[in-house]
Amino acid sequence: MNPGLLLATRNPKKKLELQQLLQDYNIDILTLDDIEGIPEIVEDGLSFAENAIKKAQETAALSGHTCLADDSGLVVDALEGKPGVFSARFAGEDSNDQKNNEKLLNMMKNVEENQRTARFICVIALSSPAGGVQTVSGVCEGRIAFRPNGTGGFGYDPLFIPQGYDQSFGELSAQIKNSISHRARALQKCKPLLKQFLES
Ligand code: IMP
Repeated sequence: MNPGLLLATRNPKKKLELQQLLQDYNIDILTLDDIEGIPEIVEDGLSFAENAIKKAQETAALSGHTCLADDSGLVVDALEGKPGVFSARFAGEDSNDQKNNEKLLNMMKNVEENQRTARFICVIALSSPAGGVQTVSGVCEGRIAFRPNGTGGFGYDPLFIPQGYDQSFGELSAQIKNSISHRARALQKCKPLLKQFLES
């Protein structure tokens, strides 16, 4: 029987994306909604990798399942890398996607088109319950729009126009996003690790 892989996220849209991206693998996917008693893991690391490793190792140890955690965010050149690891709470502890997007647009109101380069970064950590952990990363280059467009995806998607496209991730289909996103690219690199996991 296949051992089941636990996804360490409570973000329903991210969960759906990861489930869609993993559907070709013969793996039973569990989420934190299937397991009781796993507390919120505090993301206090200074890098995506630190946070992903912490989430994966702590969730795997507490649940007894091999665990896949991703930490991701938006890195904007004109803002010296912000919001970076603070992407989820850019507008403060009670922030939401709309407030984060408004803050970002406001900080970039005087930034010209050719200076609006940015990238989404995703680090995925895969940890066994015993603590053995491996990481992979994926990057999606693009630029920040002048206003939000589209309602698809989540987070900064309405503001992010991936390289090679004229529309934001909020406007592009889930199929396109899932073929070029930072998360898709990291998961692609995660394939050999998942294979090892299935064989172990
Ligand atoms: P975390 O990896 O759950 O900590 O997510 C960090 C934050 O980065 C999210 O709350 C979003 O604001 C942003 N983010 C990460 N991935 C994406 C994406 O695919 N689209 C839009 N925003 C994203």
